[in-house]
Amino acid sequence: MPLDPSRTVAELKELRELTGNEDGAQRVAWTDTWVRAQEWMASKLDGTGARMEFDQARNQWWTLPGRSDRELVIGGHLDSVPNGGWLDGALNVVAGSEVLRRIAEEGGPPVTVRLVSWADEEGARFGRSLFGSSAAAGSMRDQDELRSLVDRDGVSLPDAIGAHGVDLDGATDARSQLANAASYLELHIEQGPVLESIGLPLGAVLGTFGVERHRVVWRGQAAHAGSTPMDQRRDALAGAARLELEIREIAKRVGGGAVCTMGGVDTKPGIVTSVVETAECLLDQRHLDATQLAEMLSNAEAASRRFAQEENIEVEFERIWNIEPILFDEQLIGFADEAIRDVSGQSHRLPSGPLHDAAEVSRSGVPTVMVFVQSLRGLSHTKLEDTKEEHLELSVQALDRLASKTIERVAAAA
Ligand SMILES: [Zn+2]
Repeated sequence: MPLDPSRTVAELKELRELTGNEDGAQRVAWTDTWVRAQEWMASKLDGTGARMEFDQARNQWWTLPGRSDRELVIGGHLDSVPNGGWLDGALNVVAGSEVLRRIAEEGGPPVTVRLVSWADEEGARFGRSLFGSSAAAGSMRDQDELRSLVDRDGVSLPDAIGAHGVDLDGATDARSQLANAASYLELHIEQGPVLESIGLPLGAVLGTFGVERHRVVWRGQAAHAGSTPMDQRRDALAGAARLELEIREIAKRVGGGAVCTMGGVDTKPGIVTSVVETAECLLDQRHLDATQLAEMLSNAEAASRRFAQEENIEVEFERIWNIEPILFDEQLIGFADEAIRDVSGQSHRLPSGPLHDAAEVSRSGVPTVMVFVQSLRGLSHTKLEDTKEEHLELSVQALDRLASKTIERVAAAA
């Protein structure tokens, strides 16, 4: 049978029935519902000739041997956040399975084609995203931190993954899975409003944003709200408030898709009768270009020093986490553009704000690209997440075209 994109939509609905409830998708990694989704996916690919296996990190792989052992890998994730959407991650795997079926039925691909469903992309239960893909990419280096993670019910990560046959120290042996990978493709819902706002169903993804996350601590002096004149205050919240407005200017000035967010401010003593003594803000800055990301951070630091001086308070930046921008493969981005134009007439290139398994794979040196399909209202990680069915079908076609183009490239290089 040729490619049947409507089957992908029907199967996604079936998966939603099987693993969701009235609050949304419940395929949280390392739960029975997640395992049910994996078994369901395995049953769908039974009889295609693709060999199924789990690796040491419980990534689920299907392999269709080709004339060369060089591999095209298509990936996604079946796990969801609690009360999640029906498409995030699952579209990638189910669409990938349709492409795999099409290739299997044609028979004898020139290169080996594999589909992978990465384990625990979301990190919903233990707060650590990209578990399986980081193990396979060789970037899982936080074993000691992982060992100490505990979920809301007091279950430790090693126990939870152990119940699914995964040994934390052995998980990094999944590395061998990417040894022959020559290209990696991932389709995903956009999870943002850009494609909808320009009226296009599909876009080629340039890479994932670099992220700088800091805790910005402002220190002033607690003082009585009634007896302290306005010009004699050392108000820590004034610094935080000024920075919150300044980051909009910084993002506008740097441009190129720059985003800055102050995700929270915690003030002490936090009572109505006192000037704020300490204000701790959480600052998240993202850009696709490393130099511009560095500029955003130094702008925020310089502005903060100026505000601190003017408000007669102190300020300190503490880095919480950072990751470099990850740029996808130039040639594959071009293939993605062509595939999108083939099926829908017009393509658009855009960066990804969220991280994806594709970022881990790309980081390990495997040429990678992603395709985004429009998300309605830009919503994700909620049961309201949705995409028009006609756009889902176009996305399956685009992934299929992209796979064909990529197979030709891998075969030519083999
Ligand atoms: Zn996802």
